[in-house]
Amino acid sequence: MLYSKLAKLYHELSSTPKRLEKIDILSKFLELLSERDSNILYLLEGNIYPDYDERKIGISNQLAIKALSKSTGTPSKKVQELWKKMGDLGEVAEKITQTKKQTTLASQTLTTKKVIENLRKLPELVGKGTIDKKISLITELLTSATPQEALYLTRTLIGDLRIGVQESTIKYAMLKAFFKDNKEYEETLQRAIDRTNDLEEVFKIAQKGKIKELEKLKLRVGKPIKAMLAQKAESIEQGFKSLGTPLAVEYKYDGFRLLIHKDKDKVILFTRRLENVTNQFPEVAEYVKEYIKGESFILDSEAVGYDKKTKKYTDFQAISQRIRRKYNIDKLRSSLPVEVNVFDILYYNGKSQLDEPFEKRTELIRKILTPKPYKIIASKMIITSDKKEVEKFYKAALKENQEGVMLKNLKAEYKPGRRVGHMLKIKPDQRDFDLVITGAEWGTGKRKGWLSSFILSCKKNSEYLEIGKTSTGLKEKKESGLSYEQLTELLKPLIEKEEGRIVRIKPKIIVAVTYQEIQKSPNYKSGLALRFPRFVALREDKPLKEITTLGEIEEEFDNQKKENYAYG
Ligand code: ATP
Repeated sequence: MLYSKLAKLYHELSSTPKRLEKIDILSKFLELLSERDSNILYLLEGNIYPDYDERKIGISNQLAIKALSKSTGTPSKKVQELWKKMGDLGEVAEKITQTKKQTTLASQTLTTKKVIENLRKLPELVGKGTIDKKISLITELLTSATPQEALYLTRTLIGDLRIGVQESTIKYAMLKAFFKDNKEYEETLQRAIDRTNDLEEVFKIAQKGKIKELEKLKLRVGKPIKAMLAQKAESIEQGFKSLGTPLAVEYKYDGFRLLIHKDKDKVILFTRRLENVTNQFPEVAEYVKEYIKGESFILDSEAVGYDKKTKKYTDFQAISQRIRRKYNIDKLRSSLPVEVNVFDILYYNGKSQLDEPFEKRTELIRKILTPKPYKIIASKMIITSDKKEVEKFYKAALKENQEGVMLKNLKAEYKPGRRVGHMLKIKPDQRDFDLVITGAEWGTGKRKGWLSSFILSCKKNSEYLEIGKTSTGLKEKKESGLSYEQLTELLKPLIEKEEGRIVRIKPKIIVAVTYQEIQKSPNYKSGLALRFPRFVALREDKPLKEITTLGEIEEEFDNQKKENYAYG
């Protein structure tokens, strides 16, 4: 297919903010899409492979600027200046391509096949000369691009497509295009997406209208799927009410989520962001092989750090550096040990467990796992209908430095990737949000050269809305916790626009933030503002899609009003 056709679709999609109109536009496009071009499904979300695949385009703004400069003959400095002025590198690409196009003719017509081919070569490049090779692959595309194609190509490269299409938009568009918008089939389609995590694979079957074939799509060991997420319980009583009794109560461990896949001798570990961290945690693979019976399985768990000497559990921040570390693994393994707490099972010896009730799944875990404290255990759990018992268990969890408890419906299935009400979390301090940094100010005085005063945003559909500004909670230097220095290093490559000291930042870095109160505010687009926000931690384990939504903050705002009323 011609890339210009896809660029036109992107344009149409971004021209309307209305979800239903987007679905309509997309469904018409999908109806006519041939199987040959089915990998376009990835491009619709700005990807080149299925969600489960780690190979991402990963081009920095600076590299894209170099390629734009080379392909249009515009000096880098000029591209940079235009970018600072316009704030969107895609629009800059469109503008400078327009100027260029008046003097030269496109060297070849771009096809989606060629675009995907070149983009897929990018993550494969390693070693000497990588940068030059990347620039030449991108330049090859950009020199052939029309202004509109250059706009979307550039946005795709830097991972910021801005067309407001999410996985659910694509699901509804497929439902409309291939199943006459029959809502009865929505769940089947969703399940097919959940189990494969591969939109192209689902599209190819859906396109033929084969609902029965979609039902047959299965989980596969080695291909990560999105983990099931929790909601909050306001109280134990509310937990009982919404989950039924008896229910399971487990420790809510303060670590990071680890999905464990095993097939014969091979163990693969994935984080909640679906990153493969097998190499970072060699001991976990050993524990899994040694202490869990079974040919093949997929487990859901939380890895928690503990102090080697005192055997006390540490918080997530203490071990978070192990997730990204590529070197000195053995040293870290011994200085920052983890205990794996298995709390769910999704697949066992050739059979999916997703539709089994939780009581069966948790029973199976206990049957196949030989507990080895400080290595691997089944999560601590009680089954009860008694509020007092839950309270006692909750206190014990907090005493052991854990975050609180999870209440779980014994009859519920496992729903990948969804914040369903099957498990509810109870924590003492629930007043924290996971927000993304979308702006900052260059510091002055002793903070000169560092970014300070960070703008925080929550999410509403595919938009990021500002809700607060802070630098409280940050240390000066890197050695001692989250610092100005560390944040500046992380954010500098993400700067999109500068006006005086104010910079706009591409949403990528997620931070947990506490606050004293939520207020109404005309100053922020979200309509709300956090009073006295304070940084708690970096959330490197969390995907952008799962940050706190405006809806959740509004809910908290309503709760706060009720509390104030009760105490006032
Ligand atoms: P929070 O910031 O409260 O940890 P979150 O947004 O990271 O929440 P939620 O899905 O809301 O994630 O809370 C559930 C998280 O708690 C899971 O992702 C998992 O990592 C962790 N967890 C710890 N112990 C358990 C357990 N026993 N069962 C399920 N999840 C657990």
